[in-house]
Amino acid sequence: MASKLFTIALVVALAATLINIYVKNKGETRYLFHTEWYDPVSATVRKFLLSFFPRDNSVEMYDLRSQRLFLKRLAVEGLDEKDFYLGNTIVVLSRQLKITEYADSTTREIISSKRQRTFAMVKPDAVHRLGEVIDVIQSRNFEVSQMKMVQLTRAQAGLFYREHEGRPFFEPLLDYVTSGPVVAMELITTNAVQRWRETLGPTDAELARREAPDTIRAKFGKDKQSNAAHGSDSDVAATREIEFFFPSSKVHDIMVPQTTARFLNNTCCIIKPHAIAEGNMGSIFKAIKDEGFEVSALQMFRMDKIQAEEFLEVYKGVVSEYPGMLQQLISGPSVAIEITSIHAGQTPVKFREFVGPADPIVAKELRPNSLRARFGENTVKNALHCSDLPDDGPLEVEYFFKILQ
Ligand code: GDP
Ligand code: MG
Repeated sequence: MASKLFTIALVVALAATLINIYVKNKGETRYLFHTEWYDPVSATVRKFLLSFFPRDNSVEMYDLRSQRLFLKRLAVEGLDEKDFYLGNTIVVLSRQLKITEYADSTTREIISSKRQRTFAMVKPDAVHRLGEVIDVIQSRNFEVSQMKMVQLTRAQAGLFYREHEGRPFFEPLLDYVTSGPVVAMELITTNAVQRWRETLGPTDAELARREAPDTIRAKFGKDKQSNAAHGSDSDVAATREIEFFFPSSKVHDIMVPQTTARFLNNTCCIIKPHAIAEGNMGSIFKAIKDEGFEVSALQMFRMDKIQAEEFLEVYKGVVSEYPGMLQQLISGPSVAIEITSIHAGQTPVKFREFVGPADPIVAKELRPNSLRARFGENTVKNALHCSDLPDDGPLEVEYFFKILQ
């Protein structure tokens, strides 16, 4: 009898909790994620269950180790539904949290259908028009979530295109894709695989010009082979191709395509996260090229606080905007670029001039054509970081393209 009463009480309590949860969250979407934060003080990884409420961009965090509520529901400025996907890092109260897993099936279903990944590659013949291709990508609401300029070896190209081995166009295809650098990208959006194939157009660029003139291959491609860009043809292919160019483990393997950085007569700049989020990445690449500079290497990075502190060390205590610069650099993905030019040893000085004064308001007055005048807002959101002293450029290039590889 007593045990029966106990069971009833337990069921009631459970039901009450469930109803409570239901009423509380009725009509409101709530996503649930497993996240990890590296705590530099204790040098441990702390795990949190994180709820995200898209209605007001608020989050709630539950500490899994101490089994306690860590952060009561709080709206976080700058956070958006589109930031919530597997593998991304979000910033909550200056803490960088990595999203490691969906914590319930609803979240998994909704988010993974909204945020499908595909693999895109700008082929050698279109790399000089990278800015325009990125403009198309951004205007069609694809998010660039990984990006790297690499030079494929013949063996790597053969492996990538192994499905075509034996076809008459296989060897010429390998000649073509190894003829110069390519830019590999992971793109994310709803139904990304299919939508990117539609954005590319038919394989044959001439056919594309006749039948789908608004597509990338119609605009930037030449013929059946030199067709400007690649796109995965299925979800399975996308996963394989993303892993091929952006391996999830950092083991050194000769089949992993490597950076094109030259480490010579160069300088370094970084397109800051705000400029990427505002959709200006394509225009910045276009402007750099139109001014006669060459992008000889590039890669997207998500810098963590330790890396950003290391990178900005020389500014600490020297520049009053240091804390803001640090926050800006860790607020989202940025793109590091190696710049080279016909000016050889003069490249750092000439490029710095083109980037313009640190304050975009001053830049608009003094150098209206400079990058910061055109794409900056204030001293923190000034679109680009650029190496200060000529000697710093090569060191910064080494930092991104050697040390962080
Ligand atoms: P995709 O998926 O539209 O890129 O086309 P495929 O997977 O069929 O072919 C891979 C790549 O090989 C194409 O993008 C072209 O660069 C090249 N290619 C395909 N078919 C031909 C062909 O008939 N002749 C030549 N020369 N190249 C081809
Ligand atoms: Mg194909």
